[in-house]
Parts: sequence; C-alpha cells; structure tokens
Amino acid sequence: MSERLYLYDTTLRDGAQALGVDFSLEDKRLIAATLDALGLDYIEGGYPGANPVDTAFFADPPELKSATFTAFGMTKRAGRSASNDPGFGAVVEANADAVCLVAKAWDYHVEVALGVPLEDNIEAITQSVEAVVASGREALIDCEHFFDGYKANPDYALACAKAAYKAGARWVVLCDTNGGALPDEVSAIVAEVAKVVPGANLGIHTHNDAEHAVANSLAAVRAGARQIQGTLNGVGERCGNANLTSLIPTLVLKEPYASQFATGVTRERLKNLTHASRLLDEVLNRAPNRAAPYVGESAFAHKGGIHVSAVQKDPRTYEHVPPESVGNARRLLVSAQSGRSNILAELERAGIAIAKDDPRVGELLEAVKQREAVGYTYEGAEASFELLARRALGHVPHYFEVESFRVLVERRHNALGALITVSEAAVKVRVNGETMMSVGEGNGPINALDQALRRDLGVYQEYIRDIELVDYKVRILNGGTDATTRVLIETRDAATQKRWFTVGVSPNIVDASFEALLDSITYKLLKDGAPAPHAD
Ligand SMILES: [Zn+2]
Repeated sequence: MSERLYLYDTTLRDGAQALGVDFSLEDKRLIAATLDALGLDYIEGGYPGANPVDTAFFADPPELKSATFTAFGMTKRAGRSASNDPGFGAVVEANADAVCLVAKAWDYHVEVALGVPLEDNIEAITQSVEAVVASGREALIDCEHFFDGYKANPDYALACAKAAYKAGARWVVLCDTNGGALPDEVSAIVAEVAKVVPGANLGIHTHNDAEHAVANSLAAVRAGARQIQGTLNGVGERCGNANLTSLIPTLVLKEPYASQFATGVTRERLKNLTHASRLLDEVLNRAPNRAAPYVGESAFAHKGGIHVSAVQKDPRTYEHVPPESVGNARRLLVSAQSGRSNILAELERAGIAIAKDDPRVGELLEAVKQREAVGYTYEGAEASFELLARRALGHVPHYFEVESFRVLVERRHNALGALITVSEAAVKVRVNGETMMSVGEGNGPINALDQALRRDLGVYQEYIRDIELVDYKVRILNGGTDATTRVLIETRDAATQKRWFTVGVSPNIVDASFEALLDSITYKLLKDGAPAPHAD
C-alpha cells in the first residue's frame, strides 16, 4: 500500500528565471510534452499576462495526457477586490486546470517590501484562493520565504499557510526562496506546519543556493509533505531549483521512498529520464553536465582496469543503480563493448530491428565515433542518427542530389538611404535525371538557402509542402573564427504536427546548416515512404 506523492514541474516558469534561459513558444510546447510523457503530475506553463510567450502559450494550451496544466501568478493586491485586479484576473481566467499563486509569508517582506498591514496580506491570500476555487480550478499557494519567515515569526508564517488551506487550497507549498535552509531545519519546520495543515496538502519548493535543494525536498517528504516542486536539470534562478532529474530516480528507485510512495513516473517511464534531460540541454543550447547524477555521460563511466573488470563481472560493485533504469548507459572507457550497447539502444529507440551480433552494428559504431570526434552529436538529433543508421543498413534511397549551391549576402544602402542586409541563394538540384535551379530570398543566408532548396523538388515537392523550420541553433565548438560549427535544426510538419531534429557540422556555418537541412528533408521523404527515384 503505497502513498501517492505528487511531482510538480516549474521548469517553464521558475526555471525560465535563470540567466541564459529563454524559452520560445515552441520550446515550451516541446518541454511540456516531454514532461507529460515522463509522468509529471503538474506542469506549470508560465505566468499568463506577464509576457507575450506565456500569454500565447496559455491562449493555446498544450494537450496533455495526464499532467495538470497550471498557471502561475501572484495573489491579488491587498486593498483591491479580486475582480478589480486585472493582473490577477488574467491568471485566474487562464486556460489551465490549476492556478498556483505566490504569496508572502514572512512578516518582514509583507511590511517592508509590500508595505501592507499583516492582516491585509492574510485577507488577500484568503480571497485569492477563494476566487480560484470559485472559478472551478485547483488552487495552490506558494508561500514565499516560508522557512525564513517561520524562523522570524512562526505564528505569522503558520497563519498564512492556514488561511490558504482554510480557503480551499489543494496545496500549500512551503518555499525556501533564498535557498539557504538546511535539511534538519526543513524537516523540523514541515513537521510543525503539518500540525495545522495536513501533510497530504503540503508541498515543498526549494532553491539550491547551499546545494541542499534535493536534500531539503526529501527532508520535507520525510516530515509529511506530499508534493515536490522542482525543475528539469535543476535549472533556475541563481544556483537553480530542486533538481527533479535527481529527485525522481531517487524516489522511484531508492528505499524507503520506492516502497512508501507511488508517483506518476513508473519504472518504465523513468527510462526516458536521460533523454528528457539532454533534450532540455539541447533546447537551451547548453552542453550537458557530464557529471550530472543519474543522467550525466560520466554517471556510469568506468575507467581503469580494476573498476572495469569488476563492473563487467557484477555492475553492482561500482554502480548504485542500473544505468538502464534511468535510460543512461554504462561506459567502459577501455573497451568498445559499451559503445555497442549504446548503439543497440539507439537503434531500438529508432525502431530499427537488427541482430545484436550483426557486423553492421560495429561499422555503424565506428561511423558514429568518427563523426562525434569531429563535432556531431546525436543526442537531440535523432532524425540524423536514424538516417545515418538506415544508410549504414542500406535503407535510404538517394532521392535527390544537390549539384551546387551559392549564397550571396549583401549589405548596402537601399533607395531610401537606409542600410540593409539582403540574402539570396541559388540551388541546383538533380531529381530523376532532371536538373532544376531554384532561387530564394531570405532575411539571412540560411533562410534564403532553405527557401531555395524547398522551392522545387520535382516529384517530391508534395511531400515537403507542409514542413517548416521551427528552430535553428548554432554552437561554436572550439573558439575563434576558424572554429568548427555545429548546427541543430528542428523541423515540423504543419499538417501532422510531427517534429524532428537534424544536425550538420562544418567549419563553414552555411555548409553545416545546409547539411542539417538536407537531412531534414530526406528524413521527411523516408518517413512518408516517398518512392525511390528512377535510375538516372
Ligand atoms: Zn522558486
């Protein structure tokens, strides 16, 4: 008989507060779908009304299978009625199943920062929660600075929590906003709060300023809280939020949590964790943290004779959990064995059936290794990996051939005397023995090239009509202007909403982009079963 523990993701809101994190609407959709598939209970989409991306996201909310889509905002302003506060109204009326409101719980902040009487703040909490409940949505209250507030004035902090609960909040979430609390304090304070608000209604939201966010979350659960808020990869302001990528496997795999609690993340779904973590890194254009617990590339890497031979005899000698349980893989740095199992796992993910001992697996592994050495990455570019794999197995027709392309970038004054930059591209493609020349214009060289390439692909044109480039990311791999450039492209089929990722690498950014574009189109033709060209 296990008890339900709820997982609340705030990557798209609190995580977006981090330096260098800037989600596009497409990024948000992709991450929400990934979190939903992983089994998170709540996905906080953002702060509707606060910025154009969040407003657009809530105007057309993602279709989630099991997660509760949640809007974030502030409690209504003290001294105003809920209906007379437009900012509050935008949040309560948002297209969401739940609303999480942040409220002050530290007397010092109420009087100094907010400048309102303590009682008025409690009244604002009550009325705000009541307004959310009346709207038919589930209400959550994030009690900001709860632990610091409790240490300064426990009666007031408790009164805030109690008011939210009494008004009908499903969850009263205790926040370590400044991230400086220690695990023992957290468990002592949560235990006290649980005397006035049932643990089944308490959540924990921690920050990692003292590297205790994960430990503090677990301490709160041990003391009775039943909801954990955090972010994928721990992204968040300053030093980040509680890292769900670490917390989730601990809760699912380790005792006493595994026996005591059930979460929406089943053992089967947990195998997608590494993939989800790397996907976020790709979206953020960041190199994954190799040493990340559970999901890092080094998390199950073994180097040096004695460890490797021990791990080969029994992995438990140097591994705390099996790497496959979180979708990661063992890496034995002195043997090619590990690479082979990685490739087999990737092939399975792509739906390509092949015998384990097929010699072509070894050839593909060699090809992948060589390409990774010059800068390719296939984490986050699954479509390019699948093409590489299917080519190695002889399954990809040579649909078309690009004989040449030319790109021109010109910066000049226009007729009105304004300085403008224009790009033009010309592409010569050979399809079914026929050579076609297309030109395109764009706001930049890649855009122009994309336009030209997709203007006329002869018999294949109907297959690529609905595809669009939704994202384009460039990473410079080894500094300087003579560096190697890696380009990742995300393409979507507007008709089916399917999306795929491709990669290109070259010292020349246009070349790298073109390679990724070609993969993207070829992938679409392959997936749609476009006919192979006549021999020419
Ligand atoms: Zn926070």
